[in-house]
Amino acid sequence: MSETLSFFDQVNRNFDKAAAYTKHPRGLLEQIRTCNSVYHMAFPIEKDDGSIEVIHAWRAEHSQHKLPTKGGIRYDHRVNEDEVMALSALMTYKCAMVEVPFGGAKGGIRIDRRDYSEGELERITRRYTYELFRKGFIGPAIDVPAPDYGTSAKEMSWIADTYLALAQHDVNALGCVTGKPVSGGGVRGRTEATGRGVFFGIREACADAADMRALGLAPGIEGKRVVVQGLGNVGYYAARFFSEAGAVLVGLAEREGSIADPNGLDLEAVVAHRRATGSILGFPGALDLPDRTSALELECDILVPAALENQITEENAPRLRTKIVAEAANGPVTAGASEELYRRGVMIVPDMFLNAGGVTVSYFEWLKNLSHIRFGRMEKRFEERTNRRLLDVVQKLTGHSMTEEEIHDFARGASEEDLVNSGLEETMVTSYQKIREMRRRHGDVPDLRTAAFIVAIDMIAVTYGDLGIFP
Ligand code: NAD
Repeated sequence: MSETLSFFDQVNRNFDKAAAYTKHPRGLLEQIRTCNSVYHMAFPIEKDDGSIEVIHAWRAEHSQHKLPTKGGIRYDHRVNEDEVMALSALMTYKCAMVEVPFGGAKGGIRIDRRDYSEGELERITRRYTYELFRKGFIGPAIDVPAPDYGTSAKEMSWIADTYLALAQHDVNALGCVTGKPVSGGGVRGRTEATGRGVFFGIREACADAADMRALGLAPGIEGKRVVVQGLGNVGYYAARFFSEAGAVLVGLAEREGSIADPNGLDLEAVVAHRRATGSILGFPGALDLPDRTSALELECDILVPAALENQITEENAPRLRTKIVAEAANGPVTAGASEELYRRGVMIVPDMFLNAGGVTVSYFEWLKNLSHIRFGRMEKRFEERTNRRLLDVVQKLTGHSMTEEEIHDFARGASEEDLVNSGLEETMVTSYQKIREMRRRHGDVPDLRTAAFIVAIDMIAVTYGDLGIFP
């Protein structure tokens, strides 16, 4: 039944389920779940062969209860208005959940980027930015895009450059987009942020001994069998951080197919093999599975869908053999599939929390752009000197002398990357505890997604109350 619902309807179904646990007025709930603005644009671009193609693109600002709105831009041939609205709604709840002071937005351009040259992609991106600009859908105080499926730092720097040319008197213009290269106003740690956040979130979930016992698992990440779908920005870094923490990568899926090895796959070697051959298939020592969805059905402890929405449906959910689904992608598990998995006691760590690392570090980048200073620049050396003085005292009192290397390790002031990663870890850990606490408080709230939605709805309701709109 639920499989016939559109993506946006599925998000709203999850919202409604959580809203029933709250006491907010019906009108306020309706205001929160409604998508405030959607802009569908069509514009021509000249292709390299001189022909003209009309491009369709969207930007949805789901909620302007906090400004600017924020959300990625997706390049994919399946992009449509419903998808953009659904993803913008998830951004609203995600930002509220992790206390990032933005409303939710999302953009998309309906293209398969493999069909376009670099020059054509640049023309499309710049024209899209111009269209957003002239309709008031971009700006550091209005709406701030970021990378998503099919886009990366390169597209973000084209957007920033176009915006800077149009808004030359805006001293904060660089804050019009995040996910930029560090040399172009980005922040260190943004590229890895979503995958790193996925790792921090799951590490926190796996640290709860009672929850792990209920799943028949030992606490901790070490030794857990992990399957990752999608080796793009989010999937690659999530897989890397899991591997570094001692998890065993037993399966990987990409567009061309999936592979398995119960003894563990070497991520970097698989990536190198794919770069050399164009495919993860045929990786020495691994088993090629029948198709790209087969990896989802491998026996494992943590399944990480990190590609696209609607990957786990009512059709394949009964065949899943995982204890935990880590929603690294947005909307990878349909509402109907979620119900089926809950019935079987599978833990789903929801997207609106788990992949919030990207927007969290985007928030840090935006703050850096508005403050015009690199994090740590003012305090790094001061901190280091203070720590060295403290170590001198400790050495005198204990009679133990440290090597210069040890002193350097202990005394080192925090760099921008240290601060960003620490802020990200703090956000993921405290947000997970908030969700866990909400679930405990309600006793009867059946799942983490519903608990996360309640946290987000309450946060947004407070903002509307503060604005005096729904006192
Ligand atoms: P990406 O384009 O960097 O990577 C996606 C990868 O998935 C690609 O390597 C692609 O080949 C692969 N893929 C596509 N279809 C597949 C399939 N059927 N099976 C297996 N692999 C497949 O995109 P991304 O930025 O990593 O985004 C992935 C998901 O994470 C999306 O849902 C996105 O909305 C979400 N997300 C991304 C960010 C971010 O910071 N990039 C933040 C939050 C959420």
